[in-house]
Amino acid sequence: MKGQQDLFREQNLEQVRAIKVRLSPLTQLEAECCECNQRDAISVPTDEFYRFKDGELVQNVWPKMSAAHREIILGAINRVYVCDRCWSMFDERG
Ligand SMILES: [Zn+2]
Repeated sequence: MKGQQDLFREQNLEQVRAIKVRLSPLTQLEAECCECNQRDAISVPTDEFYRFKDGELVQNVWPKMSAAHREIILGAINRVYVCDRCWSMFDERG
């Protein structure tokens, strides 16, 4: 069961997020390739980013986004990222 304190914290978090979304509607995410150190960045709507952080699957939040862009988002969160170019080099090497 949720205590009063938790409920308060949740409402507070929602308000803080709402303010953040208004102040910066876009969130810049950056991931560094662990093979060639290239940095790739992508901007996503902040409210969508929160949905993802709350546990929604990346393909549900951004169904139309290309796989390469989803990799940047996941890489920015997990800090494990391989850029598109390095992936294609892996493919060539087999
Ligand atoms: Zn790379």
